[in-house]
Amino acid sequence: MPVPKRKRSHSRIAKAHANKGYKIKAFTECHNCKSVINPHQVCSECGHYKGVKILKTKMERAMSRGEARKAKEAHQKETQAPTVAQGQE
Ligand SMILES: [Zn+2]
Repeated sequence: MPVPKRKRSHSRIAKAHANKGYKIKAFTECHNCKSVINPHQVCSECGHYKGVKILKTKMERAMSRGEARKAKEAHQKETQAPTVAQGQE
């Protein structure tokens, strides 16, 4: 059975392992907003994939929620206002 001739020092082992886990990741550019994204993944900035809108972004969701809330409040005001006016009369 072959046996190593000399002990591998901690230093040599550490040097060998130093560059083990590092790989340069590939990246691409979003077709829509030109931000840097991982390949084959939907852009997190604008929600586009290959130029097609796939996802709602966080900002868009917040905006739609806010608009829905405003519409609900406006509807409540419209429905409540006549009853208050009638109560005062
Ligand atoms: Zn994008």
